[in-house]
Amino acid sequence: MSKIYNITIIGAGLGGLAVACRLAKLGHKVTIIEQNKQVGGKASELFIDGFRFDRGPSFMTMIDIFEDLFNFCGARLLDYIPYKGLDETVEYHWPDKTQITAYQDLDKTVQALCDHHGEDKKTIQNYLSKIKLVYDLSKPYALDKAIDFTQIFNPDFLKTAFKLSGLGLNGSLARVHSKVFSNPKSLNIFNRWAAYVYSDPYKTPSILGSVGWAELGLGLYLPTHGIHSIATGIARLAKELGVKIILDTKVVGLEQLPDKSWQYDTISLNGRLESNTAEILISNLDIRTTYKHLLKTDYPTAKKTGGSYLIYYWGIKYHPKLAGLKLHNIFFGDNSGNPLGDKAEFIEQFDQGKVPENPMVYLNITSGLIEADSPIIDGQKSQNWIVIISTPPDNDKINWANELTSKKTYIAKLIAKSLEIDPSELLDLIVCQKIITPPDIQDWTGSYNGDLSGMRIESIWDVLSRPKVKSPNFDNLYFVGGSINPGPGMPMVLLSAKHCVEEVLKNAKLLY
Ligand SMILES: Cc1cc2nc3c(=O)[nH]c(=O)nc-3n(C[C@H](O)[C@H](O)[C@H](O)COP(=O)(O)OP(=O)(O)OC[C@H]3O[C@@H](n4cnc5c(N)ncnc54)[C@H](O)[C@@H]3O)c2cc1C
Repeated sequence: MSKIYNITIIGAGLGGLAVACRLAKLGHKVTIIEQNKQVGGKASELFIDGFRFDRGPSFMTMIDIFEDLFNFCGARLLDYIPYKGLDETVEYHWPDKTQITAYQDLDKTVQALCDHHGEDKKTIQNYLSKIKLVYDLSKPYALDKAIDFTQIFNPDFLKTAFKLSGLGLNGSLARVHSKVFSNPKSLNIFNRWAAYVYSDPYKTPSILGSVGWAELGLGLYLPTHGIHSIATGIARLAKELGVKIILDTKVVGLEQLPDKSWQYDTISLNGRLESNTAEILISNLDIRTTYKHLLKTDYPTAKKTGGSYLIYYWGIKYHPKLAGLKLHNIFFGDNSGNPLGDKAEFIEQFDQGKVPENPMVYLNITSGLIEADSPIIDGQKSQNWIVIISTPPDNDKINWANELTSKKTYIAKLIAKSLEIDPSELLDLIVCQKIITPPDIQDWTGSYNGDLSGMRIESIWDVLSRPKVKSPNFDNLYFVGGSINPGPGMPMVLLSAKHCVEEVLKNAKLLY
């Protein structure tokens, strides 16, 4: 290595931590400045009255991407983040009290769809083999490398694009699924994949079905000590590689100096103001927040907003009807009275900017698999519930105080109906709670208006034009994390760290 750079990373989210490990492994001097008391950003954890909650992500997939980070750093993933595969992956519920379970074993899932929903085995298998092929063919261009326009001149890329176009996966995800599945309940399950990119399945290009392949085909996992241990595991690796992590300190301003290095101003929890410099700066914040709040200018390209969440963290007392709930539970809303049918919740969220009337509810419970995550209350094992509803990012149409109250009642009714319990009885089981809205997500992680996606993907153009790791108008400024290419989600964010390091090295050579 010819030169050791002094590099500062703003934010200790998974992207910030991963890029720090890679750069430190290459010998650079790396400091992370994090505003919160703990590392992890969206993957942090919360303790209330003896309950532990993973605050954000819960679906862990694409293990090879996690392994790649540790292998690069000369370490072994399992030594830092012990994890196990799930036999039962997701349980789906409908208001008519029917349910179906998906399994790590794909054949079992396909059989369940045939048995419960009357689907045709060959048609499903044919579709799954196509989306596997999409994943395998596009990975070298869209994941292993940072995707960009120049690839369209690459003959191998063109050959791949030609092969993909021959698969007959034309139109939106929902359109393709409507040809594969006959039962509307199967459509509910498969159209949910658009949620991975915070998008509308009736507009998301079907090629993004490959994201769903990650969950269905590559398997779901759970770290033995919960999702937050992914962040603490990577932070441990970072520290061993010499990265300095400064917590409780917020970056409040950035200024580019005449020699193209950066001055960054910080304020610590005790109110101490400081200015420091870095040759290279990497922001793990949403790219729009970095521009607006730190560089005091707007991000140069207008982008479609994506999605956010209302999140309820509930400590729940034992009740025999809740005992069968799994780690991942999905309850679909009843939109049968709405003329828009199953499209309703997407039109309300994405086109009308409203919190949907009857949205899908996701319920994550880790205490069934991680003993320490919930206490014994009155001699019975309690449960830690993390309940999530998709919403638009913060906008001036939504009154969050009203929404969080009305949706609490909605959630109780929907879940209670499926489990055949009285909604008020369910609400009485709550012994502690914390509720957060998109504005809270902005304060907690720096996501722009609480937008978790960076940008909604409704076309291939949206994929190609997503912001990249390098700032388009400032030297020595880079980005890592869910608001840039390849997208949101833990594995994507780790990939953005890999792409970021490649770009830093390429450009540093040119600039110094
Ligand atoms: C409720 C929820 C559920 C999710 N579910 C899943 C899932 O099941 N599977 C999955 O793979 N992904 C999921 N995700 C997405 C995933 O969590 C994120 O894409 C990923 O963790 C984002 O990482 P990041 O690197 O972009 O950084 P972030 O987590 O956004 O971290 C940014 C960091 O920057 C810090 N920061 C912000 N401003 C400043 C400042 N001015 N100075 C210093 N520090 C600052 C923040 O405190 C934060 O620590 C979920 C997210 C949420 C919120």
